[in-house]
Amino acid sequence: MIRTDWTRKEITDIYNTPILELIYQAATVHRQHHDPQEVQVCTLLSVKTGGCPEDCAYCPQAARYHTNVKVHKLMEVDEVLDAAQRAKESGSTRFCMGAAWREVRDNRDFDKVLDMVKGVNGMGMEVCCTLGMLTDSQAQKLKEAGLYAYNHNLDTSEEFYDDIITTRTYDDRLETLGSVRKAGISVCSGGIIGMGEQQEDRIGMLLTLATLPEHPESVPVNALVPVEGTPLEDQERVSVWEMIRMIATARIIMPKAMVRLSAGRVRMNTEEQALCFLAGANSIFAGDKLLTTPNPEEDADKQLFQTLNIRPRPSFKNGEAPVKFEQIPVHV
Ligand code: SF4
Repeated sequence: MIRTDWTRKEITDIYNTPILELIYQAATVHRQHHDPQEVQVCTLLSVKTGGCPEDCAYCPQAARYHTNVKVHKLMEVDEVLDAAQRAKESGSTRFCMGAAWREVRDNRDFDKVLDMVKGVNGMGMEVCCTLGMLTDSQAQKLKEAGLYAYNHNLDTSEEFYDDIITTRTYDDRLETLGSVRKAGISVCSGGIIGMGEQQEDRIGMLLTLATLPEHPESVPVNALVPVEGTPLEDQERVSVWEMIRMIATARIIMPKAMVRLSAGRVRMNTEEQALCFLAGANSIFAGDKLLTTPNPEEDADKQLFQTLNIRPRPSFKNGEAPVKFEQIPVHV
C-alpha cells in the first residue's frame, strides 16, 4: 500500500530496525513493486558549471568557496546532444542536465536549455534537468519541451537546513517541487547524508518526502563527498551501513520510487553496492563525474552489472513518453 501519512515515530522505528532485518524487509517491499534485476542507469552532465551565487555548504560550484572547479558558461546545444548520444550508446536511459543556477531566468540561456530538452527527448531518452528554483510557467515550458523529470533535492531536514544553506529557504524548495508536480513532470528529490546532521535530520528529510501529497518518483540518496575549499571539507565520511539504512527506509516508506544510489558510490566496492541494491536502490548515475565530483568509470559499472547479473531498466517504464520532437538545431 502507498501511504503519504507516515508519522515520525513509524519512520524512526523502521530506520532503527536491526540492519539485517531492515534489509530483508526493504528487499521484500522492493520485489513487490520492482523487478530486482533492473537498475536504472542515468547520466548526469553539468551543462553550466560553477559561479553559483548560492551558499550550499557542500557544493564546490558555489562562487564564494575557493575550490578547483572551473567556471564554464552554458554549453552549446549540439555539444550537449553529442554527450547525450554517447550516454545513450553506452546504455543510459535517462539523461540529466545540471546548471549551477540559483533559479531559472526567462532569457536566452533558458531557451537554449529548452532546445537541449527537445533534442534529448527526440533521442528517446528520459530527460531530466536540475536548474534551481522554477516558477509554474517555467515548469510548464519545460514540460512542453518534453522534460520527463526535474531534480530539486531537499538536501536535509527542515531543522538542519539553515546550517547548510542560508540563501534560500526550505519552503522555496517545496514550492519548486509543487510547480514541477503541477506541470505534470516527474519529481526527483532526495538529499545528502554526512553533512554533520543528526539521525533525526535524516528521518526528518525522509518524513517530508514521504508525506508530500505524492511521493517523488525518484529519490536520490547521496553520501557527502567532501571537497576541499567548501565549509564541509573536513566532514568525516559516512559508513556504508548508514547509506544502506537510508536506502532501505526510503524503499519501505516510498515503495514505488526509484531510489538512486548517487554521490559516494565511487568509494563503494561491488559487495557494498550489491547490499545497497538488495536494500532497494534501483538507480545509479553512470559516467566518471557527478557534476564535478568523481564517480565510478564506465567499465567498472559494466563489470558490476555483469557480476551481479543485473540489467539497465528501459526508458519510460513508469509513464508515458512525452511528446517526441525531432532532433532540433541550435536555437537562434
Ligand atoms: S548546490 Fe546548486 S544551488 Fe547550491 S551552490 Fe551548488 S550549484 Fe548552487
